Parts: sequence; C-alpha cells; structure tokens
Amino acid sequence: EQRKLQRLKFTPTQTLCGTKIDLCANIELPDDAQAAVESGAVGVGLFRTEFLFMNHRDRLPEEEEQFAAYKRAVELMNGLPVTIRTIDVGADKPLDSIGSEGYETAPNPALGLRAIRWSLSEPHMFLTQLRAILRASAFGQVKILVPMLAHAQEIDQTLDLIREAKRQLDDAGLPYDPNVRIGAMIEIPAAAIALPLFLKRLDFLSIGTNDLIQYTLAIDRADNSVAHLYDPLHPAVLHLIAFTLREAKRAGVPVSICGEMAGDPQLTRLLLGMGLTEFSMHPSQLLVVKQEILRSHLKTLEKPVADVLASFEPEEVQAALKRVTEA
Ligand code: PEP
Ligand code: MG
Repeated sequence: EQRKLQRLKFTPTQTLCGTKIDLCANIELPDDAQAAVESGAVGVGLFRTEFLFMNHRDRLPEEEEQFAAYKRAVELMNGLPVTIRTIDVGADKPLDSIGSEGYETAPNPALGLRAIRWSLSEPHMFLTQLRAILRASAFGQVKILVPMLAHAQEIDQTLDLIREAKRQLDDAGLPYDPNVRIGAMIEIPAAAIALPLFLKRLDFLSIGTNDLIQYTLAIDRADNSVAHLYDPLHPAVLHLIAFTLREAKRAGVPVSICGEMAGDPQLTRLLLGMGLTEFSMHPSQLLVVKQEILRSHLKTLEKPVADVLASFEPEEVQAALKRVTEA
C-alpha cells in the first residue's frame, strides 16, 4: 500500500472531473521543507515559526538568525511558495524565554494574549520578525500569514507594521519582494462571520480548523477532560467552514485549510465538495489525501455534501458523510 502511494508522488493532483487541487505542506522547522518536497507538496502552506522561538531558552532569535531560517526553508522549496506564519505563541505554545508573564499567568491563556495579539503588544519583536521574513522573500516565493486575527484594527495595525518593516529595509538598502502577499488565518468564529473585513483587506485566507473548532465549541484543545467534545463535524463548525470557502471564492480571494481537518482522508471529499481547492497538511498525510482526490468526482459530491450541511442531528450528519465518502 505504501509503495502504491509513493507512486502517486509525481502524479498531478486533480479530481476525476479535472479540477486541479493544490496540496501543500505544514512545517515547523526550516529543514522540514525537505520532507515537504519529498512528499510532492506544491508549496509550504503553513510554516509555524513559533517553533524557532520555542527552542530558544534565554532569548528570542535575532533578525539574522530568523532570516537565515526563513531563507533556508525558501531555498529548500526551490521556487515553490512558502507561507510563513508570524509567531503564534501563547496558550498551548508557551515561550520559555521572554514575555512569559503576559500569558502564562493569564486566567485563560487560550483567550488571552496569544499570537497576533502578543505580536502587536511587542512591536519591536514583531518588526524584527517581519523584516526577517521580508528579507527571505528576495530568495523565492514568500507569503506572510497572520494568526488569530479577529478585529479590523488588528488587521490594519498589522498591515501598517508590515509597511513600516519595508521602509526600514529600504533605508538599510536590503532587498525584498515588494509584492509579497499577506493573508489571515481564519480561526476565530468572529473572523469567519465577519469575513468581509478580511476579504477587503487581505490577499488570501487560510482556515485554521484546530482553533476554529476550539473557539466555536468552547473546547480547550489542550484539555483532555473535554477532548470527547472536540468535534470537527459539529454542524456549527461545518457551517463556518462552508461559509468561509463560499464567500472567499465569490470575492475571488484564495482560501486554503491548514488545520488537521485538511490532512484527514476521511474528510477529503467533504472538503472538496464544500469547494476547497487548496489543502495544507503534515507531509506524511499528503499522499493518502491525494489518493482520495484522484478518485473523486465533484459532481457526484454535490448532493451528499449539501445533505451533510443540511443535517443537524449527529446520526444524520454521519449518514450523509457516509454517502459523501462512498459517492
Ligand atoms: C489551526 O489552528 O488550525 C492551525 C493550523 O494553527 P495551529 O494548530 O498552529 O494553532
Ligand atoms: Mg491556530
């Protein structure tokens, strides 16, 4: 079975009806880009940069060290796009080095100063990261992805800081791609529901289902005592995903999914039927998901996927999902 999957590595990803699908990889450290290439990914859809920071015991990496790390991933991808997410620290991803008072003592870290909220509270650190990412964009195709946005002013502040980082690089005479695309993670229900705020301001979107499930269902993703209630198939979750895909498509804004759902072959057809054309997942999942796509026909998915979205009772959702996977 593994050998059969390996043969799919060089097969272009498309459905039986000829719709092209982009399968990208999630990485945590620059050298993971090697595994991404080996899996046949057409890019890195999510580079979780916080892992660079978490391995630092006593201080955050300087601009040069970050730049070298981002550049390495970009060079390993050899011209394929690399989506670099700005630091998503806090909650389940604590920082050992600095700034820990902010969230480790927070009454509810998942709802506290994490991700972009933390970055905007540390503009000096954020600008350092933005300059490092922008500098890497001179060596390949780089996109910037911003985690945990919910408010218009957070988006605007972030875009202002990116402009500021570019000005600083101009002053220093350092090269970068002036057209680097900027995207937002859609992982807070408010972001999905208020999607026009994002469609208007950003170049692309990426749905983070891990956090979208956590915040939609009020289930701490790190708390085992409620893990049984963490349900990707809850109708509220599926509706937010379907709505985001549909509205982004209608506005002509590229949208992907980079949460765990994208790498689950049991959900591949459901997501295809909801209109997803760009998946990003752990490289180890890429070929099984590709296999599902190669066997799928969008037309036959329409009715059963509409049935899933019209279902609210768990048994009905399961029965409709079975028709999706067997379509
Ligand atoms: C997500 O929330 O789905 C996601 C991809 O980001 P992370 O798992 O790093 O929070
Ligand atoms: Mg997330």
